[in-house]
Amino acid sequence: MAVATTITAYADKTEDQRAITEMVHQFVDEQVLPVAGHHDHEDSFPEDVVEQMKELGLFGVTIPEEYGGMGLDLTTYAMIVEELSRGWISIAGVVNTHFIGSYLLMKFGTDDQKERLLPRMVTGELRAAFSLSEPGLGSDVQAISTRARRDGDDWLINGQKTWVTNGLLSGVVFLLAKTDPDASPPYKGMTCFITEKEPGASEVPGLTVPPKINKMGYKGVESTELVYEDYRCPAAKVLGGEEQGLGQGFGQMMDALEVGRVNVAARGVGIAQRALELALRYSQERKTFGKQIADHQAIQFKLADMATKVEAARLLMLKSARLKDAGERSDLEAGMAKLYASEAGKEVVEDSLRIHGGYGYSKEYEIERLYRDAPLLLIGEGTSEIQRMVIGKKLLQRHKV
Ligand SMILES: Cc1cc2nc3c(=O)[nH]c(=O)nc-3n(C[C@H](O)[C@H](O)[C@H](O)COP(=O)(O)OP(=O)(O)OC[C@H]3O[C@@H](n4cnc5c(N)ncnc54)[C@H](O)[C@@H]3O)c2cc1C
Repeated sequence: MAVATTITAYADKTEDQRAITEMVHQFVDEQVLPVAGHHDHEDSFPEDVVEQMKELGLFGVTIPEEYGGMGLDLTTYAMIVEELSRGWISIAGVVNTHFIGSYLLMKFGTDDQKERLLPRMVTGELRAAFSLSEPGLGSDVQAISTRARRDGDDWLINGQKTWVTNGLLSGVVFLLAKTDPDASPPYKGMTCFITEKEPGASEVPGLTVPPKINKMGYKGVESTELVYEDYRCPAAKVLGGEEQGLGQGFGQMMDALEVGRVNVAARGVGIAQRALELALRYSQERKTFGKQIADHQAIQFKLADMATKVEAARLLMLKSARLKDAGERSDLEAGMAKLYASEAGKEVVEDSLRIHGGYGYSKEYEIERLYRDAPLLLIGEGTSEIQRMVIGKKLLQRHKV
């Protein structure tokens, strides 16, 4: 009885959560799913869908009301991301790095930084990106080579970043650079800069945005390199101000990646949920050997495993979000949620593709897009190997003998 109550509590929604997720669910059914295939095939940015997301307030979900946002918690945000990802993970991707940028500002920004940026981020006028990865590294963040050195009142930034989601259309990039390359350990010499640019401009003084990277999936939303060459960044744009923020960038980014992991877990649940829905429908339409394939026990077993994985992933995702909202430690739980939900996303999508038989391999069928989209979730915000490293380390810390 106690167990059942606890499990129900994780999945329960408040009235407000129910209202907002139903609204996003309907938006996805009516505005996203009908056009996702087209934009995916064309690799085009869904401008009009993003405009509607702005109107729905989806760029300010977690930003406090005093800046014009909805001031909702991580749990509600994750529920929204699940719904968006059920439609198309690229649509979720437009707000996901924005969410991480907002989190960095809300948690570490100075009052001035918050007041200047958050009101324009709420409306989506200013979209945020975050940039750690470089051509030479992704997992090993302490090895970054992008360098910022003091020059008068400014910092001069030089280096090449890559895989920046929303790299072109963002107006603000939270950039990790080394301010003290001799620091030991290296993370102590890293600082986060708020670099601003004209959204959509591929060339601003000191910063070039090369053409977008051509990807197997996750189409529409752009991933780009960013090349900083003597980019001048005023000292006031060190996240948290120079006094508080210098040398703190690694810790700030790792903190943000923890909520980012809950975010990716929600995306895994969303894509898996959609793959399950498609499989449930197709398996009751397609007939072989004189009956619906859903009537073959082997297919039912597959559906059963898929639905169980979706539910387990959702519970892990909600548990980690609720712990964070309650102000409790959630590093281990966020790692578990990200690891399980992204792997479950890939597995459920593959099973759904198998259930679709040959049609699953056709671009006419939605599952083909999901099959190309799902692997991203195994990589972003730390690969599965990195999640296992995080989980293992935290487990041993919590159970030290
Ligand atoms: C579509 C897309 C969008 C992205 N968006 C962003 C973004 O907005 N901002 C950003 O900063 N980055 C972004 N990234 C980059 C992403 O975070 C990195 O790709 C990821 O962290 C992995 O880094 P890597 O690609 O350099 O792989 P590597 O770090 O080179 O790893 C290669 C392989 O080795 C494994 N590995 C590495 N170290 C270990 C170890 N110690 N033990 C065991 N195995 C290990 C990895 O798990 C992986 O399998 C994005 C990537 C993609 C594909």
